[in-house]
Amino acid sequence: MKKLLTFVYCLGISAISFAQNDYFFPKKQLNPAIPTPEQFLGYGIGSHHTRHDKLVEYMRELDRVSDRVTVQKIGETNEHREQIIVTISTPDNIKRLDEIRKEHLAITDPSKPMPDTKKAPAIIWLGYNVHGNEPSGGEASILTAYYLTATEDPEALGWLKDAVILMEPVINPDGRDRHTHWANMHKGDPMVADANDREHNEVWPGGRTNHYWFDLNRDWYLAVNVESRNRLAFYHQWLPNVVTDFHEMGTNASHFFEPTKENAENPLVPKYVYKELNGRFAKYFEQAMNEIGSLYYTKESFDNLYPGYGSSYPDMEGGLGLLFEQASSRGHVQESQNGDLAFGFTVRNQLVNALATLRASLVEKENLLKHQRNFFSETIAQGQKFATKAYIIGDANDQSRNRAFWDLLIQHNIEFYHLAGDVTENGSTFKKGKAVVIPSAQPQFLMVRSIFDRPTTFADSLFYDASAWNLALAYGLPHTELKGSFQKGERVTKAELKPTPTPFNKSDYAYLIDWTDYYAPKALNQLLDNQILTKTSFKKFGIGGKEYGYGTLMVSVQKQKLSSEELYQKLKQISQNTGVTIEPVSTGFSTSGIDLGSNSFQTVKKPQAMMLVGGGVTASEAGEVWHLLDTKIGMPITKVEVYNFARLNINRYNTIVLVGGNYTALDKASAQKIKAWVANGGTLITLKTGTEWAIKQDIVKEKLREMKPDSSRNKVRINYEDFQASEGAKQTGGAIFEAELDITSPIGFGYTSKKMAIYRNNNTILERSTGAANSVLVYTQNPRITGYVHQESLKRIANSAAINISYEGNGRAILFSDDPNFRGTWFGTNKLFLNALFFGSNISSGGQFGAEEE
Ligand SMILES: [Zn+2]
Repeated sequence: MKKLLTFVYCLGISAISFAQNDYFFPKKQLNPAIPTPEQFLGYGIGSHHTRHDKLVEYMRELDRVSDRVTVQKIGETNEHREQIIVTISTPDNIKRLDEIRKEHLAITDPSKPMPDTKKAPAIIWLGYNVHGNEPSGGEASILTAYYLTATEDPEALGWLKDAVILMEPVINPDGRDRHTHWANMHKGDPMVADANDREHNEVWPGGRTNHYWFDLNRDWYLAVNVESRNRLAFYHQWLPNVVTDFHEMGTNASHFFEPTKENAENPLVPKYVYKELNGRFAKYFEQAMNEIGSLYYTKESFDNLYPGYGSSYPDMEGGLGLLFEQASSRGHVQESQNGDLAFGFTVRNQLVNALATLRASLVEKENLLKHQRNFFSETIAQGQKFATKAYIIGDANDQSRNRAFWDLLIQHNIEFYHLAGDVTENGSTFKKGKAVVIPSAQPQFLMVRSIFDRPTTFADSLFYDASAWNLALAYGLPHTELKGSFQKGERVTKAELKPTPTPFNKSDYAYLIDWTDYYAPKALNQLLDNQILTKTSFKKFGIGGKEYGYGTLMVSVQKQKLSSEELYQKLKQISQNTGVTIEPVSTGFSTSGIDLGSNSFQTVKKPQAMMLVGGGVTASEAGEVWHLLDTKIGMPITKVEVYNFARLNINRYNTIVLVGGNYTALDKASAQKIKAWVANGGTLITLKTGTEWAIKQDIVKEKLREMKPDSSRNKVRINYEDFQASEGAKQTGGAIFEAELDITSPIGFGYTSKKMAIYRNNNTILERSTGAANSVLVYTQNPRITGYVHQESLKRIANSAAINISYEGNGRAILFSDDPNFRGTWFGTNKLFLNALFFGSNISSGGQFGAEEE
């Protein structure tokens, strides 16, 4: 017998009550033995926001009561929330899941016989709630799982027979719970639809992002965050045919499903995906939404260019990624231009599209399976025919960064190999063991191209996100293309990701650490934590038959608090912890350059750093700094709320970081406070609009390169409807540029090449500093390497400063026009930031002679 459960939606002052199953599943036969979400949770879906732990409990309850369902844990978030996959299919399929998985992978491997597409099930991945404060997805996952477990509807039973449904109910549990608590703790009774209510206006940083304030819907490709890494490992075990990605957008919008904007499709993806599959699936979403009377739109916005969305990554893996965007009630009910928008209504739109996805996938099942086979055989064939037969990549001076890049390749299941011997190509030599070769002819050829391609022309000049995502440049690794045949050594395996620092002997004189290693700052941090007196070299030198560059760390055995034996033991530990090689020397007399007792070795001060957060500060940039220091360095940074700054004693810090954002929360007195603190010896590090703020507040005497006054007034007239596109085209939404670095400056320490790639996604442009040595990093004459940039912007960027040092009294500001830590991926520019952090207090207007007195 069907049990009707009622719950109440409060829409402003009017209350509508109806049966929950009737609202979400009208006229559907449902097994009463399966607990409804309302029975289990104690409230109706849509009347409250479900905590992640309760959602997981409900899924486990379905697993317990039904043999259609199995729940597995694929990992944990930073805040120790479970990441789960709920697998739903017929009991028979559930029993032989691993067998099905292996048979499915055979479809993706053209060297194996093609399984019978009539019999083989489709693998359908329902992914939800990558943005934490877009909660209708997660709630819809609860209803979808309930429906598929309880349904007795013949059509739905057919889906279970012919598909394995892998549901990831919440892609971003930490962010979702931030928003869940916010919405629940502010819920009124009666509910308040007024958009001004606190319920509808989260405080900084909001629930969109994960623990480190990263957008996980950019991270499928970058694979920086633990959530993505756990997912990718599982994803590549299954390679699903269809993947959904449920989002929310502005409250005044309606609903969006694919197709996305024309001319904004990834050129590497087979046209069949966009032209055929997207169109055919859209028919089912159209029908589902028409049936419940919901408004929607398609084609006007969103793009499939960037391969790191949940809705685009699957297109690169022989599947079909689907984006859904639902107007957000952001809270339980909110007024909108379409009337009051109730949470339950937003959940229902997501639910019907999840079910429509299943309906479409099963009708298209054979086409999807055949597409996946064709995709991989054609991808491999394309790779074979491609002019570039392989890419070689690696930095002979930095095995840590090499390994980080190998790790990225392994996340995407890309095949790559050690070199068979040293290779010289296009004037560069790559050393065996320090570089790898990545063949084009492989199933992951499209990912390989994404990592190395450098497109500069695009069909459209408006981008939803970045227009460049070359990861070889982001990691700052020397690389080249091989046009002819090539030799390869052993395939690189996961086991090789573990660092193996060279063991070293005890010294009674001194130890040296090369600063070129990516993790040298981590080692330095541990030295300083252990109060080990450490110096850094402002000049090059040669000793013991080896040449050492700028920034080399030196630990002399004398003058330490530890005995020589204790010091040796501690250094061995630090080398093990960080993977950084430490070298003993028995003399201070160099064969070239400065000796170890030179004044050009300066003592490094431990950074006591704080960063302003909250208010108008850009959360993602602050999160990148936090993530870098937590996960790569192991150094704490104090996060200070901007609204507390005025009453804070800042003298306990020697370093302040201002990332991009507006600092309107800081008054004139606060700006003066920072200025006085700098003059007193502090190091101020600013990024992007943080740099603009420091200049406009007169904290530093630098200059921005402003837009020239508009000489074309009234000359060019454009239509109202084209205005947005025309203005948008002038924004630099994310492109990669070339800049030249002063590698003798402490900001350039550890770099061996003057030319470097940097990422720009903003319009802050710095004039060169007046001091001849103060513009440490400068954009080159024709700087664009890859990505879209408007010609006017390109002219303004050329020859501008990317980093200026500005001296103020006894202190200094280090001003970045860009973000060197972008999305946790720019291993190539992280060290610029870390140099500012660790060596900031060693930088003075007197250069390296500042410390000398006669
Ligand atoms: Zn979203």
